[in-house]
Amino acid sequence: MIPGARLVLLGRQGAGKGTQCVRLSRHYVIPHISTGDMLRSAVKEGTEFGLKAKEIMDRGELVSDEIMGGVVDERLRSDDTHNRGYILDGFPRTVGQAELLAEITQHKPLDLVIDLVVPVDVVLERLAARRVCTDCATNYSVDNPPRYGWVCDNCGGEVVQRADDTPEAIQKRLDLYERETTPLIAYYQERGLLAEVDGLGSADDVTARLVDAIDERRRRSGASSPS
Ligand code: ADP
Ligand code: ZN
Repeated sequence: MIPGARLVLLGRQGAGKGTQCVRLSRHYVIPHISTGDMLRSAVKEGTEFGLKAKEIMDRGELVSDEIMGGVVDERLRSDDTHNRGYILDGFPRTVGQAELLAEITQHKPLDLVIDLVVPVDVVLERLAARRVCTDCATNYSVDNPPRYGWVCDNCGGEVVQRADDTPEAIQKRLDLYERETTPLIAYYQERGLLAEVDGLGSADDVTARLVDAIDERRRRSGASSPS
């Protein structure tokens, strides 16, 4: 069995984090933890927390560090992540969250943080075309739709445009990314944890580059298991 890993994937909205995380999660047999998906499922369940989160998300703003830290802390305590590791998608998003994550993972530190690099003009095009399954969060686009109508190939769920993929909310999220999340690149570089990977090209090419970066890090650190 391939050894697990503890990974973070950074990258702008539309860089392809969601798609690549699903692939990496299968390759390394580790859970894909997307804070955006976790929040969207709370919204769908209509919990009080979900209703509050929905307002924030639809405006393209960020849920507080304190709340997100609690959500991730709880998730990382479960057996699957404890034993195999995980790939985090959408967290940390601020230096405050990175500090919380360092505390949460102090006994089992991260193996690698990857910045998936895609230029702004490309992500703008991708986001305008993005469609997503409301049940399982599989990504599609107007150029790569499901086989039958807007029904998910994977689970039969309804495939729609996300409520926060409007031009205004997209611009706001990209601005917030530059301001709040870009500083994480320096933060992880200083700690020797960062690798940059080019996110342009086919999804298969990008996956191959990501696997190379992760396996190379593993070879260098001589780590064979995350425990
Ligand atoms: P995107 O990367 O396209 O913005 P996500 O699915 O990662 O999409 O997140 C959607 C929304 O959920 C964000 O705009 C934000 O409101 C909220 N969110 C997700 N993760 C976090 C986080 N770590 N901290 C604060 N808010 C978050
Ligand atoms: Zn689906």
